[in-house]
Amino acid sequence: MTTLNSEPNIPPLFSIDKVHIGPYEYELQFVLDLVKDGHTLYGHYDTGETPGIQVDPKYPPRRIVAALVHEILHCVSNEFAINLNERQVTVMATALVDTYVRNQNLFDEMRSFLLNPPVNLKEIVYNNFTQNLREAEND
Ligand SMILES: [Zn+2]
Repeated sequence: MTTLNSEPNIPPLFSIDKVHIGPYEYELQFVLDLVKDGHTLYGHYDTGETPGIQVDPKYPPRRIVAALVHEILHCVSNEFAINLNERQVTVMATALVDTYVRNQNLFDEMRSFLLNPPVNLKEIVYNNFTQNLREAEND
């Protein structure tokens, strides 16, 4: 039997309190001094009847976000049965947060592109492709 002090004990740090991963909705909670079985944790996730992700807010912001991404990756690995190991999850979470921090405009543009793609996207891609093909044939 595992023990976890998973009751949120500080006000939420984010304005959202749900994380949608695959078909599930995880409740996002911030738990100060997150401990499981005597071990201090940065974050934790639960599956089952009430899926949840808990993150300890006492660390620097980048560590908190990395812990959240880390737990999201565990959830993805679990739900899609891809069996990521702890090291893979840790490296991917750290690298994704670093990439996000260093490329904020890229992520903003990707979001904007997804929400509002150019109406003639296929035409733009096709015209560019055929133009490149013509140029290649003329070389
Ligand atoms: Zn982990």
